[in-house]
Amino acid sequence: MIPPIASRFVAGETPATALEHVRSLNERDIKAIVNLLGEHYDSRSPAEADAAEYRTLVRDIANSRLDACISVKPSQIGLDLGDDVFRELLEEIVDEAAEHDVFVWIDMEDHTTTDVTLDAYESLAREYDGGVGVCVQANLKRTKADVERLADVPGKVRFVKGAYDEPAEVAYKDKAEVNRVYRELLEYAFEHFDGGVAIGSHDPEFIEYAIELHEEYGTDFEFQMLMGVREDAQDELAAECEMWQYVPYGGRWKSYFYRRMMERKENVLFAARAILGR
Ligand code: FAD
Repeated sequence: MIPPIASRFVAGETPATALEHVRSLNERDIKAIVNLLGEHYDSRSPAEADAAEYRTLVRDIANSRLDACISVKPSQIGLDLGDDVFRELLEEIVDEAAEHDVFVWIDMEDHTTTDVTLDAYESLAREYDGGVGVCVQANLKRTKADVERLADVPGKVRFVKGAYDEPAEVAYKDKAEVNRVYRELLEYAFEHFDGGVAIGSHDPEFIEYAIELHEEYGTDFEFQMLMGVREDAQDELAAECEMWQYVPYGGRWKSYFYRRMMERKENVLFAARAILGR
């Protein structure tokens, strides 16, 4: 059972609790991106189990008529075991999702996985006519070229700053530099993408910038934020724009919760207050 302190960031341990949370989001005009927590499996059975759970989840989303999609991590569905395992399990999920008209996002992990992830995305987005999206990271030096390659792929792209601690040979390490590149990537995307641009950020500067870019280029776009982070802003944006919340759930919630706690001092204070009961 997830302690109340973690339930701000994680929607329980089961698909049922996650979908209950999705229903409450939909009542607030917020759509949901559901993610089963899990990554870096070193054997086939947990990867297959998670892939099977995603296939059930897309059927449940469709049957319950919720406004939701899913987001899958490559190393959760076998990437560490081989590119072929990852592509096989991903295709099974995308196939089931397409049958039920549920969109599939592919999360992006560290830079050693970028090529295989983008290749899988590109071929599936073409085969399934845009029912798939992928995440790209502004902190990687290669991303401008990747984004140019993705401009005519019929899927959606989520732009984030990048969550992984990457080596300086491949990544910008300075926050201001990452922000500069993020700005450039968003401008390029709004100018050149037809399929829609997703802004995966809580940063007020880029929320405002995306709205300006939409006014200039008219490109479809959506905001994406994490469960438990800037929920007030999510409600405000949902009144004006398309707002999606990333909803993690599952038994492997501890390391995700720990990452959320450690990334901001306010979150550590929130945890301390909850533990002390104040
Ligand atoms: P930051 O640069 O961390 O902060 C900028 C400003 O945003 C802050 O000054 C503050 O005003 C506001 N802010 C940020 N966080 C908070 C907070 N917790 N509470 C209040 N205000 C805050 N990364 C990947 O590498 N791969 C992925 O697939 C991926 N998917 C993602 C999906 C979604 C929906 C989101 C939201 C993020 C995803 N990320 C992913 C993480 C992303 O790369 C960043 O690490 C993360 O979003 C932090 O960057 P930021 O742009 O939100 O803001």
